[in-house]
Amino acid sequence: MIIIVTGVSGSGKTTIGSLLSKRTRLPFFDADDFHPSSNIEKMTQGIPLTDHDRAPWLENLANHILEWEKEGGAILACSALRENYRQTLQVSQNIHWIHLYGEKGILEERLNNRKDHYMNPGLLDSQLATWEEPEYGLHLNVAGTPEELGSSIIKYLKNFDMKSKIGIIGMGVMGKSLALNFISNTIGTSVYNRTVQGKEEKIASTFAEENLDLNLRGYDDLGEFLQSLESPKKILLMIPAGSAIDQQLDQLSGFLEKGDIVIDGGNSFYEDSNRRVSEMQEKGIHYLAMGVSGGEEGALKGPSLMPGGNKEAFEQVEDYLKSIAAKDKNGNACMTYVGPEGSGHFIKMVHNSIEYGEMQAIAEVVHLLRFGLRLNPSEISRIMRNWLNDGLQSYLLEITADILAVKEGEEYLLDLILDAAGQKGTGGWSLITALNHHVPYSPLAEAVTARQLSSQKTKRSELSKLFNHSFRAFGEDKVILMERVKNAYMLCRIINHETGYSLMKEVSDKYSWNLNFSEISRIWTNGCIIRSGLMEELVEVYQETDSLLRHKKFISKVKELKKDLTYIIGLGLSHDFALPVFSASANYLLGRIIENSSANLIQAQRDYFGAHTYQRKNDASGAFYHTDWQKAKEQSNPNSQNKPPSS
Ligand code: NAP
Repeated sequence: MIIIVTGVSGSGKTTIGSLLSKRTRLPFFDADDFHPSSNIEKMTQGIPLTDHDRAPWLENLANHILEWEKEGGAILACSALRENYRQTLQVSQNIHWIHLYGEKGILEERLNNRKDHYMNPGLLDSQLATWEEPEYGLHLNVAGTPEELGSSIIKYLKNFDMKSKIGIIGMGVMGKSLALNFISNTIGTSVYNRTVQGKEEKIASTFAEENLDLNLRGYDDLGEFLQSLESPKKILLMIPAGSAIDQQLDQLSGFLEKGDIVIDGGNSFYEDSNRRVSEMQEKGIHYLAMGVSGGEEGALKGPSLMPGGNKEAFEQVEDYLKSIAAKDKNGNACMTYVGPEGSGHFIKMVHNSIEYGEMQAIAEVVHLLRFGLRLNPSEISRIMRNWLNDGLQSYLLEITADILAVKEGEEYLLDLILDAAGQKGTGGWSLITALNHHVPYSPLAEAVTARQLSSQKTKRSELSKLFNHSFRAFGEDKVILMERVKNAYMLCRIINHETGYSLMKEVSDKYSWNLNFSEISRIWTNGCIIRSGLMEELVEVYQETDSLLRHKKFISKVKELKKDLTYIIGLGLSHDFALPVFSASANYLLGRIIENSSANLIQAQRDYFGAHTYQRKNDASGAFYHTDWQKAKEQSNPNSQNKPPSS
């Protein structure tokens, strides 16, 4: 789109053009800047330009207009007083004319107040005499404020049949922020929200009015919304997971054409997405299951995006997604095509599961420091800020340091918040998925369980009294303990990530998704909630291995930190601290690195009571054996029953 703002000197072309540039994100140009020096010299001396003087200037501008159009559009302030001047500039169908006019007195006053401008105020009369009023375009009296004029222009321009590049359904927290992100990247966006009579009315149209922007259009009617999209339609759903998605797809089905693209940007369960990708494919509709992370702020300023599903569809929206995504340290978008089917939603689910683990681990750290080391929240906040610069950089730790510093009156806000944690599904789904795929998941599973226990506040309060529970402070050196808690947390964090990535590896292999863990780590280095210094390291690590526990650098790190994790767990448990994720991570680690585990006894017990059979060590045949344990016991030691153990 090319917008040309015309009018005599003093009509406010530059002010309005610059304002429009902000509202449309199109670059602004002032035609005066393109005059040859001979013209400027004449105007400075108060000598009116002739048409002969203007001809090369207008031709030059016309060529620029064609260039700007190719680059996505521009706004040009140009007096264009005569019709033949305007016709010289009319080199494209995409030109919109805005004509500013006003009382001579106002124009004179403005010109007299202007400094550092070569236009001689004496030329106003000649300009007014030259002005040939056009019969097209928008005519605006400059008596209004620039804001009023700008709003009128945006409303006028929106009447033209411009199709939006993308449509968003669901104007909740995420949908609104993503819409603003798209338009700030000059991607034409239509938005729609359902109507619930008496409760949810005119949500999308009101949002578009409140955020007046040429690139934003709000619709309360689904049909009109879909009409406003360019073909093939690209529709992003930002609504709750589950039945809402299926209902919305049903409503859309009558309107969609083959080749249209639907993107589910919510936290849908990946198995639902697997099904939807193939169901939609059968109808000729492309379906992308896209994980989005970063919360409200990320969605607005740059989220981490995890699209998966139909690759052909991805290629059609790739540039838009790249534009709105966060950028990694090398300036590349934190967005990648994850893989087929619901893989994008799958990795988002695991991302959230790691997020659960990280949040719970930090919560355990805060409890240990606060009630074990008797530090107040402000002190803990300062300690965490130091940790951020000492090998533990992470978004979640950063926001925790902020939270701990917040007071309401004399009290810490944290102490006023009910200790009952909410959850929406992704943590639990990860756990179910891990169980279904036989992947050990205890550290992250414990984070889910901890939230469940926390939500039983009334029962906990009752039992707390019955058991006289209270934390007991540690009697040891605070400085040494602080360092040990830090090391324990550092290792717990490594194990949490190892747990989540091992689930991704298993499911990727099972579905032949061929997930790229280095690339997944890269798109999680910014924009998302689990971005951290560790994540930056994982980008390199997963180029070399598929398990942190096999990576040389991490093997030595784990060895070094292990004694502090186990020490802090022992100390904490013996002083009545609940440390579910800390403890589970240590058990998980030991369970992974132990060569001779206690499971031989489990197999023996299973065979004893259920004849489930067992395999034998060093038996290359892999055969299954059953023992008659009663008989074997008698045969093994027939006289031992009543004998005391030998010394
Ligand atoms: P939200 O603020 O609760 O908004 C939900 C939106 O969906 C609202 O516009 C709501 O419309 C609409 N909606 C609800 N039920 C619907 C139905 N049956 N049919 C059509 N529209 C319906 O939710 P949100 O935080 O934006 O989250 C949207 C999706 O993104 C969810 O899947 C969520 O899990 C995911 N997500 C959220 C975050 C986050 O930090 N919030 C981060 C990543 C992903 P009404 O106004 O009419 O109710």
